[in-house]
This record gives sequence, C-alpha cells and structure tokens, in this order.
Amino acid sequence: MNLTTKVLIGMIAGIIIGLIINLSHLNTAHSLINYYLVDGLFHTVGKLFVNALKMLVVPLVLFSLICGVCGIGDIKLLGRIGGKSFILYLLTTALAVATAIGAATVFDIGQGVHLVTQSNFTGKSAPPLTDVLINIIPSNPIQAMANGDMLSIIFFAILTGVSILLVGRKAEGLVETIGVLNEVMMKMVNIVMSMAPYAVFCLLAKTVADLGLDLLTQLISYVAVLIAVLLFHLFVTLQTLLLVLGRLNPIIFLKKIRNAQIFAFSTSSSNATIPVTFRTVTQRLGVDNSVASFTVPFGATINMDGTAIMQGVATVFIANIYHIDLGLSGYLTVIAMSVLASIGTAGVPGVGLIMLSMVFAQVGLPLEGIGLILGVDRLLDMVRTAVNISGDAVVSAVVAKSEGKLEQSTFNDPNAGIFDLQQTHLDQESEKALADIIQQQQSSEPGR
Ligand code: ASP
Repeated sequence: MNLTTKVLIGMIAGIIIGLIINLSHLNTAHSLINYYLVDGLFHTVGKLFVNALKMLVVPLVLFSLICGVCGIGDIKLLGRIGGKSFILYLLTTALAVATAIGAATVFDIGQGVHLVTQSNFTGKSAPPLTDVLINIIPSNPIQAMANGDMLSIIFFAILTGVSILLVGRKAEGLVETIGVLNEVMMKMVNIVMSMAPYAVFCLLAKTVADLGLDLLTQLISYVAVLIAVLLFHLFVTLQTLLLVLGRLNPIIFLKKIRNAQIFAFSTSSSNATIPVTFRTVTQRLGVDNSVASFTVPFGATINMDGTAIMQGVATVFIANIYHIDLGLSGYLTVIAMSVLASIGTAGVPGVGLIMLSMVFAQVGLPLEGIGLILGVDRLLDMVRTAVNISGDAVVSAVVAKSEGKLEQSTFNDPNAGIFDLQQTHLDQESEKALADIIQQQQSSEPGR
C-alpha cells in the first residue's frame, strides 16, 4: 500500500474515531478517554509530528534555496522567477477573493440570519506593510531563522547563494557540501513522512473529538458557500491556470498533490507543510529545485487563496447580518486588503482571522462580528490550508514550465517520486562502508 492510501485511511479513520468520541460525549473534561486518549495520546503524537515537520522547514529552505541559486545557471532567471511567481500569487489571491465575494453576494448569505456573538473576538493586527518590507532584510539572520521568518530566510539564502557564485571556483567544495546537506534534509523529510498515517489519524481524531462536526451545521449557509468556492477555486480556477498558462494536465496534478493536501488539511499550516509541498513539487511534479526552492516557501508565506476566499465570504456574511451595505468600493477594498494582508502574514493555523480583522477594520465592519464564525473556523482552516498549498504548487509548476525548468517526463510519470518505505531503510552495508571511510580518515590524520 502506498503512503497516500495509508494517509487517506489514517485521515478517514481519525475523523470517524473523533466523531464517535464526540457524539458519545466521551470527551468530557474528566473522562478517562479524554485524559488518556484525546488529550493524551492523540494530542501528543499529533504535536510531535507537527513539530517534526516544522523542525525541517528552516534548514530545508535554507539549503535548498542556496543550492537553487547556485545551480540556476543564469542569475537573471532568479529575477524572472521572483517576478512571475509574485504576480501569479497576487493574481490567484485576487481571483479567489473576487469569486468568493461574487458567490456570497449571489446567494445573499447571512440575510435574515439572526445570530448573537457568544465569544468576544479581539482582533490582533498583522504587521503593517512597511514593517514587512523592512523585515525582509534580517538584522540578525540567526534570529530570523529561530523565529522562522520566511521572507528574511529567503532573502538571506539568496544573498548567500549569489555571494557563493561571486566567490566562484574556490567555493566549489562549499556548494557540494550544501548540496549534500540538502539531500540529508530531503531524507529527513522521508523519515518524518513515514510517520504520517498514524500522525494524521491522531491529529484529526483529536480535532474532531474536541470540536465535533455539528458546529458546521449551525452556520450552514456560510459553511456551504465557503466550501463550494474553495472547491471551485481548487478544481476550476487553479486547474484552468495550470492548463492554459502551463499546458499541464490537471488530472495528473490533482492526483499527485493529494498527499501534500492531506498534510495541509491535518496540520492547518502551509508553513509546516513546506517540506511535503517541496518534495511533491520537485520529485512528483518535476519542478526544478532552482524554482521550487524559491516558489514553495515564498508561496507558503504570501499566497493564501483559501484564506482570501474565507475573507470574501465572511465579509459578505457578516455585512448582511449587520445590515451594512459595503457597496462596490467596499468590496474592492476587501479584495485589495485580502491580497495585501496575505503578503505579511505567515501560513500558520488561524492567521486568516487576524487578516480578517484587518479587512474589517478597513471597511468599517464590527470586529465582534468575527466572533460569529470563530467556532467553525478551526475546521474550515483545514480545508482552506489545503487550497493554499495547492495554489503554491500550481504557480510553482506554471513558472517552472515557462522557464523550461519542469521535467515533463517526471510530471507525466504516475510513479515519479512516489514515497516508498524503502527510502527510509538503513541498510547495514552502507552504514558500515561509511563508518570505515570515517575511521580510515581519522587514523590517517596526523596527531591521532
Ligand atoms: N492556516 C492557513 C495556512 O497556514 C492560514 C489561515 O487561513 O489561517 O495557510
């Protein structure tokens, strides 16, 4: 059985077990099931896995991007990749939020709904755009890495790569070493991925046991329109772009991206999914490392189509509930704000609500309105994160194709880069061979 099937089974089993626990009220605060299973085993295994994924992000982005810059062959290409991906990311986000506003307006969601906010949502503000720009250059790269500031890390990695190129031949050994480090990180991705079926099970069992799914039915019009637009964006808008701009087959793409989507769905974090998105885009879709090492982390940070869709639908929903007419200019502001807000905020769970509070503040909608959708947001975050990373993958493929950096035979091969447990198997012979080399080197070193 391949990994995708196993992860899929883990996901469905997790949802079913979570539902059983939730519906039979076994998740009450003092129950043993809750203590040992939901908050114990499921919570711990799920968190361990998310930590393991996050652990890979910074070194993987750093090493793969330095390799990417050094191996790009023509440094001008980097500027083109940057420009194209930036424009496409903004374009897909704008399309996403415009579709969302259109659909929510057509269905007039929220009209006639009487809801009272139970929770008082206090909006946090995302950093202003000037700060986002200033922080692209890290005053302390180590601190940027410790904080996981993706744009700063990308900047530092590119600058390091360019400087290595300037040093030239003398840096050959360094380039090789970083290449090996990159390979080591990719092996680590495989090791972590091999745990996915169990971890995905635990993550979903915990979330569904805690929240249940009946929350979704309470705001049915909001949830239904939001999910419909998310699916439309994933299956129609993004696939049309892939087909028209990239001349790539959407069916193959959708089959290959499934694994990464499930990771995004279970972790609700585009950032934590970077290692899996990167592996999928390079090894399954055939995008060259020089493109993917930039577009994937860049996309995880600035491209959030699913989140933008939530903002569009939520704005119309809450404006209707409060009987506020935003008018055309109001909705145009929503589109602009959603696109801008996505640039400065990282792809982590729940960040969409922070962005939404910025949009609301801008168009004058009451912030406490966000309290109405707070309850369902955790579950919807999972779906929109899967859409977010799909957008990153589509843009990566389109940009790579346009620059002749996509291996078509890999893209077309259904088995290319497929995960196989063998990849994490440590065989005794190679282990021994490496140990022998190291021992020989040490004994030949003078003074030993
Ligand atoms: N969780 C989303 C992501 O990581 C962001 C959001 O919509 O809250 O992409």
